[in-house]
Amino acid sequence: KPTSKYSEQEASDTAQQLRKTLNQWGKDYYTKDNPEVEDSVYDEKYRDLQELEAAFPSIVTPESITQRVGGAVLSGFTKVRHEIPMLSMGDVFSKDELVEFDNRIQKNVGYPVDYNVELKIDGLAISLVYENGKLVRGSTRGDGTIGEDITKNLQTITSIPQTLTKPVSIEVRGECYMPKQAFADLNKQQEERGEAVFANPRNAAAGSLRQLDTRVTKARKLDTFIYTISTFDNLQVTTQHEAIETLEELGFNTNPTQRICRNLDEVWEYIDDYQAQRDQLAYGIDGIVLKVNDLDLQGQLGHTVKVPRWEIAYKFPPEEALTVIREIEWTV
Ligand code: NAD
Repeated sequence: KPTSKYSEQEASDTAQQLRKTLNQWGKDYYTKDNPEVEDSVYDEKYRDLQELEAAFPSIVTPESITQRVGGAVLSGFTKVRHEIPMLSMGDVFSKDELVEFDNRIQKNVGYPVDYNVELKIDGLAISLVYENGKLVRGSTRGDGTIGEDITKNLQTITSIPQTLTKPVSIEVRGECYMPKQAFADLNKQQEERGEAVFANPRNAAAGSLRQLDTRVTKARKLDTFIYTISTFDNLQVTTQHEAIETLEELGFNTNPTQRICRNLDEVWEYIDDYQAQRDQLAYGIDGIVLKVNDLDLQGQLGHTVKVPRWEIAYKFPPEEALTVIREIEWTV
């Protein structure tokens, strides 16, 4: 039923129902690494809830999944407090919504801005803390404020440097993922052993990283792309694009596809390029991310309780839907 047709009571009841469903799915996804439904199904219900809450602001509760970072901390791991919260990200699914995002940014800033556009890697967020160039702690996002200490697991991943090329004290963030080949090999092995297979590389990566036995993590061939400097020490970095170049110089694995886009036409070109190459990439992506390139502007734009205002994910259509679109294109 269209949102405008609801009474406040009906809206509140429907929202409660949606939250219940989303919380249950979230639990399967974040705690058990075993999703009950496809991401697109989750995203659609999440959208319904967002629309209802936007139409009836009085029904919003702080516990609603729209107001907090989804995710949980498994018992068995030491808890880590993130001094700078690890947030989620807003997402859009169409060109029109991307235009709305850009208009909002321009209205806030007062002029058109450059975006650094990156691939949205289908893995899970990690934080790495270095003191004087030495890795001292690695953790998961958890609920955004409290994550899990997985330092020993992360130390088994060869692309994560134990020592940086400069003795800086910094916190960096990025994505831990399972390459497509490793995912296919793992599921084949699981099947042969009569064990449960993983639904997708993202859940396989999350399940492999949050293991109490680090030998299991080591055997899973995880990899990383680091894309954020959270605390700067005295690195001279003023843009997101430079941040990724600096991370590369410090010894991190960074994704080579970042591109500065001066307008939405250029962003759209990037989207077309990578949507076409998606299948050929060695890792999964579920969209692209647009980030205001200037770090001072990022600070000025700030964040909501859940997402930064200076970045947005444009999510690709789910792969089955894409197949249908391609079939239609071929028939026409
Ligand atoms: P998200 O995963 O959609 O986006 C935020 C994350 O993107 C960041 O935390 C980071 O880890 C990642 N990321 C990848 N590449 C990045 C880059 N270049 N720059 C910055 N960040 C990058 O948001 P979320 O809050 O973690 O999870 C919500 C999503 O999880 C939903 O959209 C849904 O698709 C999925 N989900 C699915 C189910 C299910 O049952 N299938 C349940 C819960 C959540």
